[in-house]
Amino acid sequence: MEFLTLVNYYEQLEATTKRLEMRDILIQLFKEAELEEIDKIAYLTLGTLYPAYVGIELGVAEKLAIRALKMVTGFDESKIEELLNKIGDLGQVAENILSQKKSQLVLFTQPLSVLDVYNKLDKVAKMSGEGAIENKVKTLAGLLAQAQPKEAKYIIRLLTGKMRLGVADMTIIDAVSMLFGGTKEAREVFERAYNISSDIGIVVREAKKSGIDGARSIKLSIGRPARPMLAERLSDSKEILEKLGGRGLAEYKYDGERLQIHKNDSDIIIFSRRQENITHQFPDVVERCRSRLRARKAIVECEAVAVEPDTGDMLPFQELMHRRRKYDVEKAAQLYPVSLFFFDALLINDEELLDRPLLERRSILDEIVDKSEDISLTKAIEVSDPEALDRYMLKAVEDGCEGVIVKDISPRSIYTAGARGWLWIKYKRSYVSKLIDTLDLVVIGAFYGKGKRSGKFGTVLVAAYDKSMDMFRSICKVGTGFKDEDFDKLTEMLKQLAVPHKPPRVDSTMVPDVWVMPQLVLEIVGDEITLSPVHTAGFGKIAKDAGLAIRFPRFTGRYRFDKAPEDATTIDEVIEMYKSQLKVIQPKEEVEPT
Ligand code: ATP
Repeated sequence: MEFLTLVNYYEQLEATTKRLEMRDILIQLFKEAELEEIDKIAYLTLGTLYPAYVGIELGVAEKLAIRALKMVTGFDESKIEELLNKIGDLGQVAENILSQKKSQLVLFTQPLSVLDVYNKLDKVAKMSGEGAIENKVKTLAGLLAQAQPKEAKYIIRLLTGKMRLGVADMTIIDAVSMLFGGTKEAREVFERAYNISSDIGIVVREAKKSGIDGARSIKLSIGRPARPMLAERLSDSKEILEKLGGRGLAEYKYDGERLQIHKNDSDIIIFSRRQENITHQFPDVVERCRSRLRARKAIVECEAVAVEPDTGDMLPFQELMHRRRKYDVEKAAQLYPVSLFFFDALLINDEELLDRPLLERRSILDEIVDKSEDISLTKAIEVSDPEALDRYMLKAVEDGCEGVIVKDISPRSIYTAGARGWLWIKYKRSYVSKLIDTLDLVVIGAFYGKGKRSGKFGTVLVAAYDKSMDMFRSICKVGTGFKDEDFDKLTEMLKQLAVPHKPPRVDSTMVPDVWVMPQLVLEIVGDEITLSPVHTAGFGKIAKDAGLAIRFPRFTGRYRFDKAPEDATTIDEVIEMYKSQLKVIQPKEEVEPT
């Protein structure tokens, strides 16, 4: 496919914010794409070159892109920067200045193909070491010299990580399911293929090659993370047990970081909850898993919890932030050690375990984890009595956990990758009190502050995720809970995400000073959920003319970089929380309201 054809599709995608229209445009695009390029087209459309787990990002600094533009157009860097300040989008600047400078040149060059552009960008992304910057600038200038102005616009946006078509992985899954399947059952197959591979490129390629059978042929594979199984939540122990058919496994819910560990002999790879390769952050875990996981091959999951080096007591999640660094990781590992609590096994040796019931998976896990002080299985008991469950939840809290996750143990208790469902139910102490639980909400806009905060963003507009429509709907404004350094940090982060119009997939009647692409997830706590005529989350679901909002929302200090926007609290969850608030929860004897 010529790159110009792809660019024409991108222009169509940019011109709509309607999800169904986006899907139809993508269907046409995937119909037209050839097998050898379809995966690359999917990545480019998402603004990347590879799935997240590969860890190769373009992210070229704007300064460098400006140098390449200067080389091609002869425009001064200061002139280009001036235009950038005025227009706010270097891609658009590139289109404008190239159309002024290059009309004759283009006539003499071959049209660029999608593969030409992809391969060049890939080359740039992989350049490192001495002279890399110069080489990048030269390669980019070469590419831009061949590009038509509007091609240059998208090349620059891709390069600088600002593609922003509003297409998400699930929009692509929708399109391929329609194109190559067409039924509800087919959609499930494509979704599963994506959930166990975390690789949209593989899914579209296999689908193009052999339709639904292609998607079925995708298996769990070492080195490629599965998307995590997630829990629903309830606030009443009786209800939880009823939901699970009267009996469940209550496991401590540790307050750490979820790790998916892949082992192939002595090779260990660690993936985050967002499928990023974070192996380098945990050299100690790598060593431990090499010697303590007694299986040749394994894909297992655990919670890594920071512990006090002297006492072994569990510390809050924030302590793990010390690991998020490029250098001196070994030192950080010594200063901030972790304990590992394993809770699931997805694959052991050559056997995929996803469809085995939980207790079978757990017993296999039990056999392969060589336990000691800093490596064990999650603490758990089987429960069928609500009072016993309450006692166990409180004990978990006393021991430094957030509460428990009560898990289905019936024969249907398979591992549902990428899904939040009722096979796992969170039960936290905070649910039993009057205060609502924390929510993870996506920033969709920002308002400028006043006084001390002038020139910076002082308040953000946040949204919950509407999973069925793949939309972000506003739920409240948050201006408290931020420290001074948060305002600096937020302003810097949000400026990078700012867009001139309401972004695609965002639904809000409230208009902020600045719209931002829905990417940043913040943990917010509030006093209660109320009906609101202003906010669009759950609009019409509880009352005819109202949505839901959070009363007295506060930022908890936790940036959820580990969550993608689609992992944010869903509107269905907010509705559940609203409903459970209405039930009069009698404080039980041993449960004090917090
Ligand atoms: P939260 O915001 O509460 O961390 P989440 O949205 O990340 O939750 P949930 O589905 O709510 O994910 O809860 C599951 C998370 O709890 C897992 O991702 C994992 O990190 C953590 N966890 C702690 N203990 C366990 C356990 N015993 N079993 C499964 N997950 C556990």
